[in-house]
Amino acid sequence: MSKDKSLEAFKEAQELIPGGVNSPVRAFASVGGSPVFVSEGEGGYLKDIDGNKYVDFVQSWGPLIFGHRDESIESAVIEAVKHGLSFGAPTLAETELAKLVISMFDSIDKVRFVSSGTEAVMSAIRLARGFTGRDDIVKFTGCYHGHSDSLLVQAGSGAATFGNPSSPGVPADFTKHTLLAQYNNIESVKKCFADSSDIACVIIEPIAGNMGLVPADKVFLKELRDLCDANGALLIFDEVMSGFRASINGAESITGTKPDIVTLGKVIGGGMPVGAFGARREIMAKLSPEGPVYQAGTLSGNPVAMAAGFAALSKLKKNAPVLDVLNKRAVRLVEGMKTEAAKFGITMQIDTRGSMFGFFFNENEIKNFEDACTCDASFFAKFHQGMLNEGFYFACSLFEAGFISTATTDEMVEECIKASAKVFKEIA
Ligand code: PMP
Repeated sequence: MSKDKSLEAFKEAQELIPGGVNSPVRAFASVGGSPVFVSEGEGGYLKDIDGNKYVDFVQSWGPLIFGHRDESIESAVIEAVKHGLSFGAPTLAETELAKLVISMFDSIDKVRFVSSGTEAVMSAIRLARGFTGRDDIVKFTGCYHGHSDSLLVQAGSGAATFGNPSSPGVPADFTKHTLLAQYNNIESVKKCFADSSDIACVIIEPIAGNMGLVPADKVFLKELRDLCDANGALLIFDEVMSGFRASINGAESITGTKPDIVTLGKVIGGGMPVGAFGARREIMAKLSPEGPVYQAGTLSGNPVAMAAGFAALSKLKKNAPVLDVLNKRAVRLVEGMKTEAAKFGITMQIDTRGSMFGFFFNENEIKNFEDACTCDASFFAKFHQGMLNEGFYFACSLFEAGFISTATTDEMVEECIKASAKVFKEIA
């Protein structure tokens, strides 16, 4: 498989764009090699500029639940474009998408649309602070909530403590209100509440997809809910990734724990830049212009993006059982690869939630970021390279989830399992 054109393109891009990419993980830095430059997507496949074709288990990092170029989403976008690209004024499309989202999430009475997951979470945090009149927030090591300053705080040791910024350019003053806790470890959250009486909210990916796929235990979430209630803090579920992928009614429908605020992104835009945050009426009433908490966006509620999101979500709502079909494929994929790996003495930890899947090369169960960090990154890199050369496009980092779309067929899954056997044999 030649990748000459991609190599050349990457070289040129690196001269013009930092690292050659507009979002760091795309540069393949953690798996080595060079990223493939995409020419087009088609259903379950990606094609690169060298003419290679890959089964795509990334699906734009989650948004494309119906695969590339889904007919109904594509035609909704084309129709919307004919009426104008942006108005910066209210449109019916926003109300229609709002109705749909509210109908699918019990905990959402009102929703506001933004243009990315980062914006959704940043705004949700401000809203939680404005609502409670408190400053501190609790986040979990290994959970990613976008690149806004106060959330760009990563894992230290497992202990809950005030975090340090994980990027130059973020003043320590900006992150001193961010407390860190360990995922699936309620004691670490209790310590945060013992350390601070000024906690506005606890934010969590209830089904974490940014340390590989690591779902939160049901009991842990329930205890988290109780701790928030006992201390007057809000609970935010960041479902930018898991929303509509793990369940069409949110993590609350499969875990039994209800959040106060939900953040959404990815699937909600059908592939266009859309994010959203929603909550019960009383909380959303704090938001400008109804309330004093300011939040805005020139392109927020963009009509083309709303049309894509509406087409995607309405199709999903009408075909709700499709998530079970996707889950069966996800289970078959990771179980099949695990069986092949075992033949070469390689142990895998696997999990799925709806159309999301995850796997770790590890002897032990992975419950949090600290566990995930014990995985052999260089082995993952070899696996990634091997699978790419066989025509299977997996997320280019150990700390990411995988995605099945409706265009990812059973045949593609079987071919992938077969290819994994070949790759395991080579790298074992
Ligand atoms: N929250 C979660 C859970 C995410 O997975 C992401 C992106 N992967 C974000 C927030 C940020 O979204 P965006 O990249 O659209 O800004």
